[in-house]
Amino acid sequence: MKSTVALVGRPNVGKSTLFNRIVGGRRAIVHDKPGVTRDRHFAKAEWAGRHFWLVDTGGWVAESKDPLARSIREQVISAVEAADVVVFLVDTKEGVHPADTEVAELLRAIRDRVILAANKADDLPNEVSHHAFHELGIGTPWPVSAATGKGSGDLLDQIVAILPQEAEVEDAGVVQVAVVGRPNSGKSSLMNRLLGAERTIVDAKAGTTRDAVDSPLRYHGRVLNFIDTAGLRKRPKVKDDVEFYSTLRTARAMERADVCILVIDAGIGVQAQDLRIAEQIWDCGAGLVVAVNKWDLVEHKDTATSERGRAKVVHRAPFLGHAPFVYLSALTGFRARKVLDLTLEVAERRQRRIPTAEVNKVLEALTRRTQPPQKVGREVKLYYASQGGTEPPTFNVVSNRPDAVATAYKRYLLNGFYEAWDFLGVPIRLRLRQKR
Ligand code: GDP
Ligand code: GDP
Repeated sequence: MKSTVALVGRPNVGKSTLFNRIVGGRRAIVHDKPGVTRDRHFAKAEWAGRHFWLVDTGGWVAESKDPLARSIREQVISAVEAADVVVFLVDTKEGVHPADTEVAELLRAIRDRVILAANKADDLPNEVSHHAFHELGIGTPWPVSAATGKGSGDLLDQIVAILPQEAEVEDAGVVQVAVVGRPNSGKSSLMNRLLGAERTIVDAKAGTTRDAVDSPLRYHGRVLNFIDTAGLRKRPKVKDDVEFYSTLRTARAMERADVCILVIDAGIGVQAQDLRIAEQIWDCGAGLVVAVNKWDLVEHKDTATSERGRAKVVHRAPFLGHAPFVYLSALTGFRARKVLDLTLEVAERRQRRIPTAEVNKVLEALTRRTQPPQKVGREVKLYYASQGGTEPPTFNVVSNRPDAVATAYKRYLLNGFYEAWDFLGVPIRLRLRQKR
């Protein structure tokens, strides 16, 4: 699993500039909560072959007499809890600020996983201004200019040098499962129900790991490993940060997961955020089981109720037409085992391989039924296709003009593939390739 690196420091020292420099063009996940002035984000980053999550803890702070405003202190405490490595940013143009000294105090106990970065050292290699920060007693200050990029390679070398070793490749044959969803949808109740209450009470010892323990479950001869997701057991000390870090943990868990169980609260109904989480699962290539929980709260329910509900959701997010839904109650245990059955089925489908002859037969039938729309110039032809990979299943279609194949037509092919083969719960991919 990837490690987490958090950027902390006073406002205006250059955290977001450094974040953008390190992350480059990759898409950041922004945590913009309406009404909250701090906007924080995290994204995947890579240096020297090491991959990690980079977290910008933000820096908005109200006017305050306190040199280290409460919000910064809270950010630092949360970052220390959640991150494997903390990059403490200071500003060489300002010199040592009283607030820097306070942050250094907060970080002292974990100084072996802190990197001190002295930013705005724009005159490298002729800078000396960073030496002043030795006085913080938190290690060597590394000069960097986030604005120009100077020194950032050396800084990244220091960061990856202290990243914990990545976990070995996941056990083959074990199905990695993440239970995700909005707060209060019933994730912990469902995990307790599935795992047996006594097993989830175990609390990770403070300070041993940043992510709490996983819980394996034997089922029908397979092992389902439940990844600890939304900090189900361990709540961050700082309330305001609960949601931010649970979003981060969820993203980390999704990436490791073979199958995600998305828990939705039937008492409240499907919210925009539920659909966003579903989309994130689908995009990252994990399998998906939609668990509509708290079914005990829904009155006058029958098959028609659930079918109508599903149709409405699929109308809003068509890809969910390719995912199985189960209506259950974590509270009473109603249909809880059904979730496990669906999870195993989805995991197996995600590994399926369709023989090339079969793929081409279906492609031919689809193109015969509807030709690819033609563009001006040369004719658009699709020649043949094959399955290039699994987990998620990826189909390569070879064309003379791959860029000229319209999005709507790709969707038509994808839907045709879903109809031809049973990939319920699995995001399949379609790639158009140039004929050589
Ligand atoms: P944050 O509040 O810590 O996220 O800081 P920002 O990244 O928003 O940067 C604050 C200001 O410092 C902005 O005006 C940046 O352009 C400027 N800045 C950031 N990095 C550098 C740098 O390396 N050199 C100089 N001269 N200015 C910088
Ligand atoms: P989490 O934040 O997603 O982990 O949600 P919890 O498992 O903590 O559940 C949130 C609340 O919903 C708790 O009060 C649970 O008792 C309740 N809850 C969970 N599952 C069900 C259910 O199936 N039916 C009903 N009626 N309540 C439930």
